[in-house]
Amino acid sequence: MKPKNEQSSLPLSSKTTPMMQQYGAIRSELPENTLLLFRLGDFYELFEKDAEEGAHLLGITLTQRQGHPMSGIPYHAAETYIGKLLAAGKKVAVCDQVEAPRPGKGIVKRTVTRILTPGTTLEEYQLQAVHSHFLLALTLVKGQLQSAWLDLTTGDFQVASDADQERLLPVLHALNVREIVLPATAMDQWQKAPQLASWWNAFQSLAKGCPLAKIADYHFDQVTAAKTVMKALGVLSLEGFGLSPEHPAVGPAGALIYYATESLCSPPKNLDRIQEYRAQDNLLLDPATLRHLEIFQSSANTRKEALIGAMDATVTACGARLLEHYLMTPTLDLQEIQRRQATVGEFREEPTRVARLRELMSKTRDLMRILSRLQNRMGNPRELGGILDTLQQLPILKAELQAFSSPQVTRLAARIGAFSSLQEQLERGLADTLPNKLQEGEYIREGYDAELDALRTLSRDRKLWMAQREREEQTATGIRNLKIKFTHAFGYFIEVTKSNLPLVPSHYIRKQTLTNAERFYTEALKQKEHEILQAEQKAIAREEHLFQALVKVVLEYTDALKSTAEVLAESDLFAGWAVLAREWNYCRPDLDHSDSLAIQQGRHPVVEQMLRRERLGLAGTHAFVPNDCTLSASEQQVALITGPNMAGKSTYIRQVALITLMAQVGSWVPAEKCQIGLVDRIFSRVGASDELYRGHSTFMVEMNEMANILNNATERSLVILDEIGRGTSTYDGLSIAWAVTEHLQKQGSRTLFATHYHELTQLENSLPRVHNYCVTVKEWNDSIIFVRQVVRGAVDRSYGIQVARLAGLPAPVIQRAKVLLKELESKGAAIRATASPKRKSTGATRSQDDLQLSLF
Ligand code: ADP
Repeated sequence: MKPKNEQSSLPLSSKTTPMMQQYGAIRSELPENTLLLFRLGDFYELFEKDAEEGAHLLGITLTQRQGHPMSGIPYHAAETYIGKLLAAGKKVAVCDQVEAPRPGKGIVKRTVTRILTPGTTLEEYQLQAVHSHFLLALTLVKGQLQSAWLDLTTGDFQVASDADQERLLPVLHALNVREIVLPATAMDQWQKAPQLASWWNAFQSLAKGCPLAKIADYHFDQVTAAKTVMKALGVLSLEGFGLSPEHPAVGPAGALIYYATESLCSPPKNLDRIQEYRAQDNLLLDPATLRHLEIFQSSANTRKEALIGAMDATVTACGARLLEHYLMTPTLDLQEIQRRQATVGEFREEPTRVARLRELMSKTRDLMRILSRLQNRMGNPRELGGILDTLQQLPILKAELQAFSSPQVTRLAARIGAFSSLQEQLERGLADTLPNKLQEGEYIREGYDAELDALRTLSRDRKLWMAQREREEQTATGIRNLKIKFTHAFGYFIEVTKSNLPLVPSHYIRKQTLTNAERFYTEALKQKEHEILQAEQKAIAREEHLFQALVKVVLEYTDALKSTAEVLAESDLFAGWAVLAREWNYCRPDLDHSDSLAIQQGRHPVVEQMLRRERLGLAGTHAFVPNDCTLSASEQQVALITGPNMAGKSTYIRQVALITLMAQVGSWVPAEKCQIGLVDRIFSRVGASDELYRGHSTFMVEMNEMANILNNATERSLVILDEIGRGTSTYDGLSIAWAVTEHLQKQGSRTLFATHYHELTQLENSLPRVHNYCVTVKEWNDSIIFVRQVVRGAVDRSYGIQVARLAGLPAPVIQRAKVLLKELESKGAAIRATASPKRKSTGATRSQDDLQLSLF
């Protein structure tokens, strides 16, 4: 039953009314940047400043009651409005009535039951199923970055500490956090300290667009924080997780728990472990590289056209989230990578069985997130039903996995728990259709509990009783259209139309006047109302009690359910990769600790899929042309790739980086054969991107990214460069590109460098591990055909005019450009005749190179 509507009697005449006093007391306790939604009957009301801000952000009407601003949202539609407030960067405190209103008993008790913040929401409607949802806490301790992050929706809780911020920052960026918790005074200090200037810049870039929550500094205090963390994890020491209590990142971990506790209005109950993230154990991808290689989002901001989209064939949300997790923190653990590859291989061998398995998995629900909500007392009957749906699939799912009888998949099967008794209890207890709100009732099955059944019968009798009573009153009064009705706001009443009022007997007591009718009650009706409402309330309470008892039973299986959820996520991801491997003819890459990389007939995973999709709709569009790549730190370390615009240089160098990343997360790869010595970082500098909003020009951004690469690349890194030095004059640009190549060659990183500076191809002659490659084109009738093949050597011309023609430049402009080019070429020949540089031949025609070099 819904609570009675107090709204009609809302006393707003002065702030000192008891209800406004209650409001004021609750409001004053809230953290900053929080709007209070105050439950009044069927509405959540906002008052005073909150009302003004809420009305503005939500586009709802601002009313004035005796000079006090007020705005309200219907309680049943609160979710949508809360979502909008969170999206606007606000926190939302939800204040509910925690006792039923009783006539003559003063105002009802209210408390804040939840403070929703962008990083701590557990509510399903606020979450994206395929994305993790991290809350991050940061601080500097003796100048060193200390951090912790927590996904409350799954219990993933990690700390990381790094003397070398450069190694930790990339992962903090990759996590795509929803909210950052900071010590209240930190930003002020960071901004003012000259020695922290570079950290301040890095922090600003990390925090860009992310809501910040500042909490008192002492929550980051080591000793307090260690206690908070241990309490939340239910342990007496952190040593079991490999963390000493003095670990400096325990501070931010404690701050996270404090903040989550404030938000949930009780300590989080779904945490059972904390892990230390060690940057040196992971392949790092900095934000520029993630963007340039379009790992999580394409340049058009879609997931589907990014690498993650091309690698995602999962059928469950937990599988998709595991993929995201792997790409956010690719491991360097060779054994673990090989385990994943092998599992994919085993799945790949049995496509029919995999199809059945995927069908079963698609019927499971998001166990991990449902568990987190149930543990934090936020679950609802439909979610409990979700657990049951999943359990019902498990026995046959497990049998399917066992039937593979190959080592890795069988190991997965063994980690699925046994739940027959739990399943049986849920089947007995839960009704066939389940509401997603406890208040809606009717979720416990008939016959499960005798007490509930009896209470339900009582309240169901109400309808019979009403019909019978209505007939009796009609006969007694002679009013044929007399009605007995019930509403939650007014209880039971007899409704008589205006024309029949003279027939109303004297024991009817007037209750309410409508336009065409009058409402009455009688003493007998009031007595019955009392009985029925009591039975209804008891039924609600009993049903909720039974629900909580079932939740308790489920939570006894938490560990087994969690490990089953992990198996489902892995099986889904690996089976999906197996499907992709078959469909796209991927190979299992050979990973080792060498310094080489050899890809035979490699393809770009995203472009290949895109081309096939296009080809299905567009006859004549070409298929993807595969290419090889061989690199090694000792011999062929730097590959310089030249070729006209549109030839396929960017696609080629990106595909090498993407294949490497795919291989290192454990997937199979789009190639015929592939060997890769583990890479510690992938760096990429691709194309031009302006960050003018940050006061950075294209050239500045490019140089920043270049500096990052040159300062941090190691002999185990893979570096992908696409056109550097473009944002300045030709000579400047060429000189920078030249010096960068020399530097990278010394540094030893495996490097692919696509460039339009033909002059650079000369470096092959002077630097031992630099080799020239070019993407070939064919000339045909004064036009060019893109062959997309990467071969040894350098191109002889830039074909700029032909490409411009393909792009649709007007014919007179093309003609004029040709004339100008001829003139320039003849002048160049004259200069060359006097300069005549001595160079080793690369086998390709070099006239254009000679011209440019001599000009340079
Ligand atoms: P460049 O960097 O040389 O200017 P891109 O790599 O941007 O050229 O490629 C231009 C277009 O050519 C891409 O959009 C892609 O669709 C197509 N392309 C590139 N490489 C291949 C390939 N190997 N096979 C088929 N199409 C390709």
